[in-house]
Amino acid sequence: MTDSPATVRPQRRAELEAGLARVRSRIARACAAAGRDDSEVTMIAVTKTHPAGDVLALAGLGVTDVGENRDQEASAKAAEVAAAGALPRWHFVGQLQRNKARSVVRYADVVHSVDSVRLARALDSASAAGRDRPLDVLLQVSIDGDAARGGALPDSADPGVGLAPLAEAVAGAEALRLTGLMAVAPLGWEPERAFARLAEVAAAFRAVHPGAVALSAGMSGDLEIAIRYGATHVRVGSALLGMRPTLR
Ligand SMILES: *Cc1c(COP(=O)(O)O)cnc(C)c1O
Repeated sequence: MTDSPATVRPQRRAELEAGLARVRSRIARACAAAGRDDSEVTMIAVTKTHPAGDVLALAGLGVTDVGENRDQEASAKAAEVAAAGALPRWHFVGQLQRNKARSVVRYADVVHSVDSVRLARALDSASAAGRDRPLDVLLQVSIDGDAARGGALPDSADPGVGLAPLAEAVAGAEALRLTGLMAVAPLGWEPERAFARLAEVAAAFRAVHPGAVALSAGMSGDLEIAIRYGATHVRVGSALLGMRPTLR
């Protein structure tokens, strides 16, 4: 038992339990301040760089949603966690290359970072071939309009970079389900300004795609502000699991 790579020391378990209590109470307070019910906000534990044992410990503490940003690491970890008998919902939150689509659709239930029609098409055919139900997709939005840093542009109708043509492609894809939008506050922007802008984009988006209500925004440093501006999913790494060994 102690030799299993997927076990976690009591001290680590206690750390995770404390981190989880802190993050849950931050979310609860932010929801209360915003007049929202905390059942409206799903916490995704972003476990990148941390071992499968941490995922299992978090699952044992009631965490249902886990996020990863690299396919190679995530696919191995998801297999190890499944072998140990836990089945959290896996969210892929990082930049994704098309040649990884076939791998990602095997373990991920949700992909948050779809920002091009080409990637959407790759995920659609991978999902059709490799899954028995559609893949949930969030479209990553660029808040500062710099498409080079990832994210579709809300104000562009260009099929290469625009949000509207991307949404049409995903909505029309048989093996994908358009569930909402995702964004990261751009470096150098006040989160307040970034998430206010995102809320406007999301409102306009929902007028066209009323079923796509998920809004994935907010991380360890800015989750309260994201919740104030309507986030339904917060992606929390370091506040929950501690510092990562390398910057990503
Ligand atoms: C790593 C990561 C997070 C979590 O970041 P923290 O600041 O550690 O909470 C959230 N979203 C994405 C896309 C990430 O890559």
